[in-house]
Amino acid sequence: MSSTKYLLDPDLVKRQQTAVEYVQTPCEDTLGVVTWGTRGSKDVCAPNKMHYGGNTTCWELRSKYFHPGLKFYIDAGGGMQPAGEAAGPFIGDILRGVDHAVIIGFTHYHWDHIVGLPFTGYPFIERTCLYIFGPKAGHIGPKEALAQGSLKKPFFPVPFQEIGHHFQFKNIKQATTAVGLLHKDVPGIEWMSRIAYNQKINNPDATIDIPRIHFSAEYRKRKTVLLRECVKVFMNNTFHPDPTITYKLEMPSGERFVFMTDHELQESVSQGLLQHIKGADCLIVDCQYKIDEYKTMYTGWGHGCDEYVVTLSKQSDIGLTLLHHHDPKRTDSGVDSVTNNVAKGFSNTMAAGDYGVIIMK
Ligand SMILES: [Zn+2]
Ligand SMILES: [Zn+2]
Repeated sequence: MSSTKYLLDPDLVKRQQTAVEYVQTPCEDTLGVVTWGTRGSKDVCAPNKMHYGGNTTCWELRSKYFHPGLKFYIDAGGGMQPAGEAAGPFIGDILRGVDHAVIIGFTHYHWDHIVGLPFTGYPFIERTCLYIFGPKAGHIGPKEALAQGSLKKPFFPVPFQEIGHHFQFKNIKQATTAVGLLHKDVPGIEWMSRIAYNQKINNPDATIDIPRIHFSAEYRKRKTVLLRECVKVFMNNTFHPDPTITYKLEMPSGERFVFMTDHELQESVSQGLLQHIKGADCLIVDCQYKIDEYKTMYTGWGHGCDEYVVTLSKQSDIGLTLLHHHDPKRTDSGVDSVTNNVAKGFSNTMAAGDYGVIIMK
């Protein structure tokens, strides 16, 4: 098991500085995740919620195994705005003509996971390609969620039709049957079926072609790389009112990291989901409620609770469990109380907070 630590300085100013410096320095870690937003359901700001913060979900993923010219985020809730601000030097490079690429993977399209995107520079800079993937069910995939939701008049003054030509989309129709692949030599991502992946992965010489992400189709050339050197993105479905994906990153050196927000944990978990989570060095998990709140008021709302997070963490051999998607009503001492409840049953537990940094060596 790798060493994973979570930096969450009690001094909010220092904590934000650490996060900003971290994303502006070349990454030498196996995986680094900045937790720009950890609040659930809606952004909040109140004096008794300042420690864990009020930004809704946005995680920035960094790794020595990613191309240095690539930014990779999961979800773009309220935390996407400070994430975009911290990307100032990266955006400056783009404006000076350096080819950079941005990937955003959406877990789903509830407001608290998409609302921040229009408040960053990325949608408005034509010289970058914004590559967005996420679940597609029925007629709604990532493109429709933006074009008919957060980038549509009168909900936002600049419609998707005016700015969307430098976006690229990937619809995930069946989360469990595909795998995404990234490599340090290419600012891009490739998708293959799990069947094809399983056939190739035991061959140490197996290669795949990854297309470069670029705003001009002419430059989306493919590069052949070794499959075993790739970061793999596995997916599964969570139990939530609308189609939602949990992502697992598996590093070339074997470490596993699972992002599982907006999931209604129950007493027992499906074998498929258990397999997805099992052995994760770090699990970020939705823990919005306490068990009594869940049972009396919030059954069917699509979120997790303390008691079942304990059961899941113990069952799944997790290295570090980070509680996420804090209820908007929950004060800092309330989040501490939920965290203590979980830590009593599974000691390697912390509450995630805004501007924290997870470092996996
Ligand atoms: Zn949510
Ligand atoms: Zn949701």
